[in-house]
Amino acid sequence: RVEMKDVRKNYGSNEVIKGVNLKVEDNEVVVLIGPSGAGKSTVLRMINGLETTTSGEIIIDGEDIAHPGVNIDKVREKIGMVFQHFNLFPNMSVIDNVTLAPIELGKMSKDEAKKFGLQLLETVGLSEKANANPESLSGGQKQRVAIARALAMKPDIMLFDEPTSALDPEMVGDVLEVMRNLAKEGMTMVIVTHEMGFAREVADRVVFFGDGDILEQGTPEQIFDHPQHERLQGFLSKVM
Ligand code: ATP
Ligand code: MG
Repeated sequence: RVEMKDVRKNYGSNEVIKGVNLKVEDNEVVVLIGPSGAGKSTVLRMINGLETTTSGEIIIDGEDIAHPGVNIDKVREKIGMVFQHFNLFPNMSVIDNVTLAPIELGKMSKDEAKKFGLQLLETVGLSEKANANPESLSGGQKQRVAIARALAMKPDIMLFDEPTSALDPEMVGDVLEVMRNLAKEGMTMVIVTHEMGFAREVADRVVFFGDGDILEQGTPEQIFDHPQHERLQGFLSKVM
C-alpha cells in the first residue's frame, strides 16, 4: 500500500508537483493519465525513490520513504519498475537478465532464481528465448523480458511508465496482455499510459494529472464517460 501526502517537487524555482495526495491500496490498479509535462513520470519516480521530494510524505508499508534515514535500496527491492525504454543488459542472456538482481542481492540461490526466472519467462510468453541475446529480440519481446526481470524480485507493487509507447503497434497487444494478467492475479500496479482502451479495461481507478496536480479521479466509467473537469474533457477529446 502506497500513500502520498501533500507531496511537492521543485526543480529550482519551478514547482512541478503541487501537493499531490494519492493512495494506492493493495491489489489495486491505478492508471495515471494526463498531458505531457503534467508530472506523471515524476510521481512514479518519487514512489520508488529515483527522484527526491521537496516536501510531503510517501508512505510505503507504513514507512515514510521521503525521510532521510530510510534505506531506499531496501524500499526499491519491493517495487518493480518498467520504463518506456527497457535497458536490458546486452551482454547477458535473457534468463541472466531476469535472474541477476535476485541472485546479486542474495534474495535467492542461483538454482531458485533460475527456476523462478524460467517460470516468469513462461508467463510472459518467452520460454523459448531464455538463452537468447536480448539484442535478437523485438521491442515487444524486450519489454516483456523487462517485466519478467522486474517480477523476479517478487515486488509488492509494479510501476509502469508508458511501457508500450516506444513499441511498434503490432507489439503493443502482447505487452498489454501480460499486464492484464498481472492485474487479474491481484498485483498492485500504478500505470502511466496513453492506451485509453486498456486503462478503461484494467483500471480500478483512473487519475487525471494536469500541471502537477490531480485534477480528477474516479472509476473508468466516471473518468471516460462522465468527465467533469474542463481540462479532462479537453484532454479526452484529443486522445480518444
Ligand atoms: P510525459 O507525458 O511527456 O512523459 P509527464 O507527465 O511524465 O510527461 P514529467 O516528466 O513528470 O511529466 O515532468 C513534469 C515536469 O517536470 C515537466 O515540466 C518537466 O519539464 C519537469 N522536469 C522533469 N524532470 C526534470 C528535471 N530533471 N529537471 C528539471 N525539470 C524537470
Ligand atoms: Mg512521462
